[in-house]
Amino acid sequence: ATPTALLVGTGRGAQLGILIKGPEILEQTRRVDTVVLDKTGTVTAGRMALVDVVPAPGEDAHEVHRLAAAVEQLSEHPVARAIAATPPTPTPAREQSGSDGGQAAVTADVAVGADGVAIGADEVREFRADAGRGVSGVVRTAHSGLGLARRVLVGRLGWLDEQGVRTDEVADAVAAAEADGATAVVAAWDGRARGVLVLRDPVKPTSTGAIAELRALGLRPVLLTGDNRGAALATARTVGIAEQDVVAQVMPDEKVAVVERLQAGGARVAMVGDGVNDAAALATADLGLAMGTGTDVAIEAADLTLVRGDLASAPQAIRLSRRTLRIIR
Ligand code: ADP
Ligand code: MG
Repeated sequence: ATPTALLVGTGRGAQLGILIKGPEILEQTRRVDTVVLDKTGTVTAGRMALVDVVPAPGEDAHEVHRLAAAVEQLSEHPVARAIAATPPTPTPAREQSGSDGGQAAVTADVAVGADGVAIGADEVREFRADAGRGVSGVVRTAHSGLGLARRVLVGRLGWLDEQGVRTDEVADAVAAAEADGATAVVAAWDGRARGVLVLRDPVKPTSTGAIAELRALGLRPVLLTGDNRGAALATARTVGIAEQDVVAQVMPDEKVAVVERLQAGGARVAMVGDGVNDAAALATADLGLAMGTGTDVAIEAADLTLVRGDLASAPQAIRLSRRTLRIIR
């Protein structure tokens, strides 16, 4: 009867949009008492929106956005998608004066090639992504006449600091955005920060209810993110996670350590995530749950896949495992 009940359990899971890798997983699911939740893409929509571009003194917001977008179009990160997807706002006429400002402002964002196909005006070479930190690439502006090439970096302030970029002129704008619960990334070239891109990522409509249910089932929710503390706390407040259960500004390779620390303290840890940077933590946790909307790497590392990409499936999985195993005993 035992294997049959387990198979019924996994079958019922499939109907609910919960894919279970093997029947034995239900036992692990039943035993967890702590749920570590990745923020971006798991609790939040993971569809960030660019809400502001704040240029450094003497810089042009349009150019900051255009060059950042040129590099970010090669990245899959939610931050990157937001920056690359939003069309740069044209520079107001008063900012177009100056030696080369006029030229830059007239520059279109797309050029039409000889074959009539729209091609990006900026060509990017030597693209590099540094997980949890930022991206860089050499951007050549095709029709600037001069073929000007600049190494453009876009990423978190601390990462730019580490590389010797001058960031003092944008530090206040970053701090203000983060205190307001936003995510702020900095664009830089030629050794200087040129502007701040401010993004917001709304909480998914079902996340708050799902976290309340997890709590009602006796589990302790923990929010884990590479994002800044201000943004993490704003999300935590929205979904009802206590401030002491927020772990922010965690590097991708440190997510595993957070899970291990909780395990060392006696917790049985479930981890819910969607990103490449969550994969190791999903594998380390006693139970890994991947968002079906997430990356393949996360899905492969996890024990359970929440096909709908909806956090509400997490308490459903816990309830299902408890019910199934109660039948067996
Ligand atoms: P999370 O754990 O919330 O999914 P990540 O670890 O992927 O976040 O990223 C942490 C931070 O690193 C981001 O909030 C951002 O500041 C920076 N970052 C990561 N990827 C990029 C990128 N492509 N462009 C700019 N900044 C990035
Ligand atoms: Mg994520």
